Amino acid sequence: MGNELIRPSVKEIEDYVPGKTPKEPGVVKLASNENPFGPSPKALEAIARESKNLQIYPDQKSILLREALAKKLGVSDNCIICGNGSDDLMQVLGATYLNPGDEVIVSKNTFSVYELIAKIFDARLVPVDLKNYELDLEGFARAITPKTKMIFLANPNNPTGTAFSSAEFDALMKKVPDNALVVVDEAYVEFAERKDLPDAIKCVKEGMNVVALRTFSKFYGLAGLRVGYGIARADLIKPMFRTKMPFNVNRLAQAGAVAALEDKSFLEKTYKNNVEGKKYLYSQFDKLGLEHKKTEANFVFVNLKKSADQMFMEMMKKGVIIRPLTSFGFPEAIRVSIGTKEQNEKFIKFF
Ligand code: PMP
Repeated sequence: MGNELIRPSVKEIEDYVPGKTPKEPGVVKLASNENPFGPSPKALEAIARESKNLQIYPDQKSILLREALAKKLGVSDNCIICGNGSDDLMQVLGATYLNPGDEVIVSKNTFSVYELIAKIFDARLVPVDLKNYELDLEGFARAITPKTKMIFLANPNNPTGTAFSSAEFDALMKKVPDNALVVVDEAYVEFAERKDLPDAIKCVKEGMNVVALRTFSKFYGLAGLRVGYGIARADLIKPMFRTKMPFNVNRLAQAGAVAALEDKSFLEKTYKNNVEGKKYLYSQFDKLGLEHKKTEANFVFVNLKKSADQMFMEMMKKGVIIRPLTSFGFPEAIRVSIGTKEQNEKFIKFF
């Protein structure tokens, strides 16, 4: 009965499919690109300290966190907004900038929240095919019309782990009209080894219509805390403060994120483990003859060429959870997060 009350665009929305979280101890979860070393220890200390102040509402504008980020990134703090995870900021972007009927260009087979945002705000989704499992920026350029309002680019891309270069990005930006916003989702950028990725923050400083989104969920090990941030020109950020919920980032999240930014040894350990882990996994996949993509993120895309759902079930029985990519449109591929050495070895033993 209530069905008639629902907005038509909401009826079309499919449920979000998260990675499976184990209930039993000892199960290795390599399904959601979380930090295998747990949360940043410095963040945990700060959270414990801050927990004594939980009777007080959080700072509405995450001032201390924005100042810390501004210092680290070399931008003004009014070019930064914080969110309850970076997906919160995607919704804020939609609420601030999307009118019904606006066109939103997204890649096919990518992070599903971009599509969700387009649907929530009654925008028209314009999907672009991947090319050899990578974002096809030329395809994005061809998809631009006078109605284009927002372009979502994941760099590195989830679930394929590939990244586009600054040259590819510059070529696309030349075709983007002044009345469109380019959202570069850099959820995994801290893991990238390649040096030729676009510098989204430099683009912001140069005045482009670019919004870079980053998160504390992956590299900083704080997915459960929910903190992300957006970087853009101050005039683009300012109206976003009007559409976000007033207290969207809680006290623990603000304090934990500030501390995590300075957790140098944890961040170095995380980066090094990821580089070593991917080398190990590539060499094992090569030995096994499994097709895979080189990754700039903390996960690897593997083309099994047989049912990913079945492999997922079989692996789960043996205590390893990976991500079958059926919901991403790849029923024969999996995404495995890079774990600790021991976790990676346990995963590989399965084959
Ligand atoms: N962007 C991409 C590409 C992601 O894979 C994810 C998490 N799966 C997010 C954004 C959302 O991150 P957050 O936890 O900050 O909401």
